Amino acid sequence: MTTENSILVTGGAGYIGSHTCKRLAESGYTPITFDNLSYGHRHAVKWGPLEVGDLTDAGRLDAVMKQYKPQAVIHFAAYSLVGESVRDPGKYYGNNVGGTLSLLNAMNANGVDKIVFSSTCATYGIPSEVPIRETTPQRPVNPYGHSKLAVEQMLADFDTAHDLRHVALRYFNACGADRDGEIGEEHEPETHLIPRILQSMTGHGPGFAIFGEDYPTPDGTCIRDYIHVEDLAQGHLLALRYLMAGGQSEQLNLGTGHGYSVRQIVDAVETVTGQKVDYDIGPRRAGDPPELTADTSKAKQVLGFETRVSDIETIVANAWTFHQSVINRN
Ligand code: UDP
Repeated sequence: MTTENSILVTGGAGYIGSHTCKRLAESGYTPITFDNLSYGHRHAVKWGPLEVGDLTDAGRLDAVMKQYKPQAVIHFAAYSLVGESVRDPGKYYGNNVGGTLSLLNAMNANGVDKIVFSSTCATYGIPSEVPIRETTPQRPVNPYGHSKLAVEQMLADFDTAHDLRHVALRYFNACGADRDGEIGEEHEPETHLIPRILQSMTGHGPGFAIFGEDYPTPDGTCIRDYIHVEDLAQGHLLALRYLMAGGQSEQLNLGTGHGYSVRQIVDAVETVTGQKVDYDIGPRRAGDPPELTADTSKAKQVLGFETRVSDIETIVANAWTFHQSVINRN
């Protein structure tokens, strides 16, 4: 199948990838999901074909590119567990860096010259300033962050050498779920704050612990910038359109600019669900900076990006609805 509006979406069966595929389809594109299903879900691929394959399989990538002739690539496929990256850096460099190199080579060989890349605020490490600007020095503190920064560097070099243009989107904390309830966050194992709280409340995960209450923040718990996955999906669509319109390579933060502490998230969950959250106070998690919030002005200026559904009540309500639908499905 070749369609004029094909976009290759690596990792399209994953959390942010599947929401972006839905948004692409709503906007008239055909998302072609390329995913090895190691973490992604076949049932999350609903808006275009699924091609099962691994990024490191150059022959398979080349065949898929030749079959669909995508106009651009949106590249999500990556490992993203910080702790695992510390224990097994080879896995992260092999997949996140090696897999991306294979992808860029396949793009070059097939004349595909536009890519939107999933980068991360983890490339800033323990930031020297908050809110974080795109010019804040990038000094990752774990192999996951190093692997993403290495790809940003690789993208800059491919632009210089081959005119392969990119937008690297440095996400802050992705959360929430599709407001229609079709897809949501389904990591295995789950490590993220909001689903961990919800799972503990329904007995579908371990008890919930706050990782440290002695940080230099107003209530002692870490502050993060939580952005609804649907807003992230919209950010990818805008970045794609920007490249299609001839935009030059850019690196952009995607966040709300507003931070919530872990305790404030617990409070929001109690308010939205009307239920009490039981928790312990645990030790700090290695590598957690006290505060990560985005300066969002550049994404607004370059893409016209603004969050629409990232208020914390909507985020938690959508995550809660999705969590219950997963319980009912299983
Ligand atoms: N967190 C927590 N308990 C958990 C999971 C996360 O206290 O069970 C905290 C974590 O220390 C961080 C925040 O919640 O300050 C967000 O963590 P998450 O893993 O969701 O995202 P990250 O910021 O690591 O990308």
